[in-house]
Amino acid sequence: MSAVRAAVVRQVGAPFEVEEIELAPTGPGEVRVRMAASGVCHSDLSVQNGSIPFLFPTVLGHEGAGVVVEVGEAVTRVVPGDHVVLTWMPACRRCFFCLSGQPMLCEVGLAEALGGPFATSAGRPLVRGLGTATFSEQTLVPEAEVVRIDPSVPLELAALVGCALATGIGAVWHTAGVTPGSSVAVVGCGGVGLSVVQGARLAGASTVVAVDRVAGKLEMAEAMGATATVDASAADVVAAVRAHTAGRGADYCFEVVGRADTIRSAFAATRRGGTTVLVGAGSPAEQVSFSAFELFVDAKTVVGCVYGSTDADRDFPVLVDLVRRGAIDAAGLVTRRISLDDLGDAFRAMEAGEVARSVIVYEEAGSSLRGEGAGGGRER
Ligand SMILES: [Zn+2]
Ligand SMILES: [Zn+2]
Repeated sequence: MSAVRAAVVRQVGAPFEVEEIELAPTGPGEVRVRMAASGVCHSDLSVQNGSIPFLFPTVLGHEGAGVVVEVGEAVTRVVPGDHVVLTWMPACRRCFFCLSGQPMLCEVGLAEALGGPFATSAGRPLVRGLGTATFSEQTLVPEAEVVRIDPSVPLELAALVGCALATGIGAVWHTAGVTPGSSVAVVGCGGVGLSVVQGARLAGASTVVAVDRVAGKLEMAEAMGATATVDASAADVVAAVRAHTAGRGADYCFEVVGRADTIRSAFAATRRGGTTVLVGAGSPAEQVSFSAFELFVDAKTVVGCVYGSTDADRDFPVLVDLVRRGAIDAAGLVTRRISLDDLGDAFRAMEAGEVARSVIVYEEAGSSLRGEGAGGGRER
């Protein structure tokens, strides 16, 4: 058993309380990871406040990177000392979806991760939040959740690959298949939306229109490749996107908020015959309506997007390498570096639109975990 500090949420709406938890012994097929960094993603907030249904009490956090400290029996993917990024959608590689090339829909891996023993707080079992529980100094996960990476890349940048970068860039590359010369609009420029902007730039889109209500995020979007920006707090979003796309609307419009009104805007800002990609993690309570006429006559494709259609084993090493080479600006996404105790304020800042990403940097990690040698990403 190991006692570590973690942020526990006891029930829906309860605050993140930092306390000591007892990790379960590392069982067969399991890996114990000392976290170096964990991003603070909006989906954690949606689980905490009940917008996305989940099990409690739990330790949340699902965008993390760290160093393997112990492996259980029969683990073959990693050894202690390996640097890893965690995936919150582990693939079993044997179910219908995995065998059909859609491991992000695996019907076995996440269920196993949620059901297995993970840790206790004062003797009471805790649920491994989103399968990963990265808001903890150490976590215990099935080996399918760890992807080994190049140790020269700073772990606080690699952490962002685990959700924001994989989801945003994957949405462009895998879900939509954006082609060079395309026009792209991105509605919502938090950590994932800014990753969509970067993915569109890397895919060779000629027009990338970033839409948000916060001026600071639009500035970040421009720095990451947006060719035009629209302030949604002042402008008519649909008219503005059309103005930047020859009056037609964008070939691809990505909705990265998860709300009915922004989904409607994204659909309207998509050109006839174009594709609207729904990336934002919406609530079951949010209802969107379309008329039968518009769905038929405009011949648009509306596509749902889980985790950027990512295959973590295939994509994480590629994304980490692009971070290492500076082709992906991960450091630019990190607005604040915080400690575990700052989580409550980090979510407040997220809701207030003050940050793209806050990243918890675990103190225990120390400077040696920030990258081992030249060529690492930029530090802030
Ligand atoms: Zn996330
Ligand atoms: Zn599977």
